[in-house]
Amino acid sequence: MSETAIIGADRAVSLQYTLSGSDGTVIESGQIDYLHGYQNIIPGLESALDGAAVGQNLQVEVPPELGYGERMEVEPQRVPREAFPADMEITPGMQFHARGPAGEALPVWVIGVEEGIVLIDPNHPLAGETLHFDVTILSVRPATPEEVQHGHIHGPDGHGHH
Ligand code: ZN
Repeated sequence: MSETAIIGADRAVSLQYTLSGSDGTVIESGQIDYLHGYQNIIPGLESALDGAAVGQNLQVEVPPELGYGERMEVEPQRVPREAFPADMEITPGMQFHARGPAGEALPVWVIGVEEGIVLIDPNHPLAGETLHFDVTILSVRPATPEEVQHGHIHGPDGHGHH
């Protein structure tokens, strides 16, 4: 096996995954294509994949602090519906960015919609969860210089445009 088939920094990785919660319930499954070493995926999964080879199957357990963070005990914020674009359908699970104290963008999630009011929460829906990943490595290739410069991949062959 060539050395480029091993996951490490500046490798474009394609993998198949199934994500389950602590109780074994499948949360989601699918394929991820990402550039390794740029925090494009959660830290606990990225570090576990370091050194893995094409074709390898891994079971990875990720604690909240290396996943989507601990759950903050905060009251949901009640935001008037008019604060959102009128033609946009607002549904639970949607993510937006709110302005923080220093003008920084803070991710928030919609957890409910009431009459004229949208309930938002700063917790990622999977915050506080220990995540269980079943991962199979589909392909690993060296990233192009452009991809390394951007910190993300440009499609399966490295030549996609965006
Ligand atoms: Zn780019």
